[in-house]
Amino acid sequence: MATMVTTCSWRVWCVPCKSRVGSSVAFSTDSLIHPDEARARIFHHVARLPSERVALRAAAWRVLADDLMAEENHPPFPAATMDGYAVIADDPSPWREIVGRQTAGSVEEIDLDLGTAAWITTGAHVPRGANAVVPVEVTSLADEHVVIHQERIDPGANIRPIGIDLMRGSLVLRSGSMIGPAEIGLLAGLGIDPVMVVQRPRVSVLSTGDELVEPTETPGPGQIRDSNRFSLLAALQESGADVIWDGHGPDDAMALRRALLERIAESDVVITSGGVSMGDLDLIKPLLAEIAEVHFRRVLMKPGKPFNFATVADTLIFSLPGNPVSALVGFEVFLRPALRQMQGFREIDRPRVHVLVDHEVRPSDRIEFQRAIVRADGVGALTATTTGAQASSRLASLVGSNALIVVPAGTEPLPSGSRLDALLVGPLRGADHPRSPEVPRNAQ
Ligand code: AMP
Ligand code: MG
Repeated sequence: MATMVTTCSWRVWCVPCKSRVGSSVAFSTDSLIHPDEARARIFHHVARLPSERVALRAAAWRVLADDLMAEENHPPFPAATMDGYAVIADDPSPWREIVGRQTAGSVEEIDLDLGTAAWITTGAHVPRGANAVVPVEVTSLADEHVVIHQERIDPGANIRPIGIDLMRGSLVLRSGSMIGPAEIGLLAGLGIDPVMVVQRPRVSVLSTGDELVEPTETPGPGQIRDSNRFSLLAALQESGADVIWDGHGPDDAMALRRALLERIAESDVVITSGGVSMGDLDLIKPLLAEIAEVHFRRVLMKPGKPFNFATVADTLIFSLPGNPVSALVGFEVFLRPALRQMQGFREIDRPRVHVLVDHEVRPSDRIEFQRAIVRADGVGALTATTTGAQASSRLASLVGSNALIVVPAGTEPLPSGSRLDALLVGPLRGADHPRSPEVPRNAQ
């Protein structure tokens, strides 16, 4: 049987990719697959969403749909960069007659000649004839004249020439750029309103489990509050998704079936949490087999081995395990890049860096994403400190962490000082950032 072995472009785990993507090899959806393979199977179904037109004000943090070329020069006229006097640079006159006043926002009829100067403010149109601006600090006034106390004046001094910031016809922003404060300022400056951006994925989030109650409720015996839904809502907000619905479903096949079918019809992406393990009440797994095309169910990773990915037409369904850390790590590793790809982001992945771990690391039988705090010392070395016990139920292991250390599967402990890969999932900390309270290390 012919197989096509491809090299995965995504190597966050820094291992040679052995995935067989697009092959004709039959696979069982229940087989444990490498995270690279899981990613390849997901991305096979991920497409950029269509574009839409939004008001400039609503374009912040969205993704620009098309390349943007400048249709105007910026500045559109030669502009003073200092308050002072517009002059002719090589005019030998020691003092010059003030023939006009030019402020920003208008253009006066001023023609400069030898022996003359015009008072000018920052941002104002430099009058005809002038080719330099002398700062007010190096001048003094005598009657109707200005005396310049500066030996040499360079032509062009303190003038922003036409198009120096943006030249008409030049590329301003590339499609896939995120519209942040600087980008939206450029768009406003060029008069782009409305703006063509990529649609945000419409996402539904469904927590499942009879044991779950709302945060405002007091849990009864055997119950806990639903935390995944709220963690996922925050993670979705950060990733640019548009959450159109969120709710909670019981461990009841009929009710879950109804909810899922409805959400699939409405959404680009449906995320469920819980109910994908091996128990009799893990109902999402059999339900997906019935109503969707399942692409994989288990990934060789820790936390988050049970992770179902399925599709119904263009709708992607990600069914995460119920344990809160497993759900969030699964989101980070697979969902966030997929959601960013749908939005057309130029960069879809978190930065991957090498870190020195300052503690012993015990590997497991799977690739493990250990939660850590990475700090940069003054000269660029990155050191990772664990956030303590790495249990998949312990959300505190993610609190304050800015990195997932990628620990390859193995049997031998890695000594303190080992160099490992890490995904930077939050801002880098400085070396002098206060450390978290000491927590027991390597407790599993
Ligand atoms: P499950 O994947 O449904 O077997 O759940 C695994 C563990 O995660 C169980 O201890 C559940 O109680 C817990 N769990 C499931 N869903 C949630 C949720 N939405 N919030 C917090 N814990 C959950
Ligand atoms: Mg459950």
